[in-house]
Amino acid sequence: MAAPLRLMRRLAMVTGGGSGIGQAVAQRLAKEGAAIAVVDLNESAANETVQMLSCDQSGQKHMAFVADISSSENVEKLMSQIQSCFSRPPCISVNSAGITRDEFLLRLTEEAFDTVLKVNLKGTFLITQAVARALVASGTSQGSIINLGSIVGKVGNLGQINYAASKAGVEALTKTAAKELARYGIRCNSVLPGFINTPMTQKVPQKVLDKVAGMIPLGRLGDPSDVADVCAFLASDDSSYITGASIEVTGGLYL
Ligand code: NAD
Repeated sequence: MAAPLRLMRRLAMVTGGGSGIGQAVAQRLAKEGAAIAVVDLNESAANETVQMLSCDQSGQKHMAFVADISSSENVEKLMSQIQSCFSRPPCISVNSAGITRDEFLLRLTEEAFDTVLKVNLKGTFLITQAVARALVASGTSQGSIINLGSIVGKVGNLGQINYAASKAGVEALTKTAAKELARYGIRCNSVLPGFINTPMTQKVPQKVLDKVAGMIPLGRLGDPSDVADVCAFLASDDSSYITGASIEVTGGLYL
């Protein structure tokens, strides 16, 4: 017998849904029966994901939205577009949009620091706040917000001081939001991937990738679907007593 669809008829928003982990999450949640609002800065990437989802024959409506999650005006417009297209706010939000601008501390520019913090931390704040406000206003008693942090936010990484700081911030933001939103039935958790094979990491030289893979106890780099599986669990009622958690998806790296 086929497993029951855990997210049937729920509306999920996935930021950064045009690529990598976000795209895999959108596919995974759609397979579980959710309707998906795919959000990305890159319009053609968002449309491509929606095209993929439309082949799943679940009968759910999936739509692409273009927005810069680091702009409060964009986020406000995005939420009203989603509300008018789906007649409800998303009860699941997976916040995967993120960037890197890698450089060592001694050479990092203020601009590269600000740019990464603006997208990864402020953008996650704006989306978390907007979804929470919309859910509370709608009177719903259920919501699941899942923020993409990184193991680097816990342990640091050479050449990623801006990125590590932004992801440590995402974890703190998520735990605080979890405490504040629990009374409304809204759960808030973060997922901390290790090294996942996506366009973000494909810039890394093969030699380095091989070395990293050798350091991972489970013996391979992660696949976006490894992260998507955990997001689907956190989105579903199977995790209904979990909030404020950070789940590492690293293959055992940095244990
Ligand atoms: P990716 O580069 O493949 O995808 C990121 C997506 O976010 C892109 O489609 C991009 O257009 C979009 N985006 C960037 N800035 C945006 C903005 N301001 N507004 C809206 N969309 C924007 O990256 P990925 O590897 O899939 O990473 C997804 C998330 O997971 C990121 O938050 C990243 O930091 C985190 N993460 C990734 C890894 C990894 O190894 N790939 C590890 C740890 C954490």
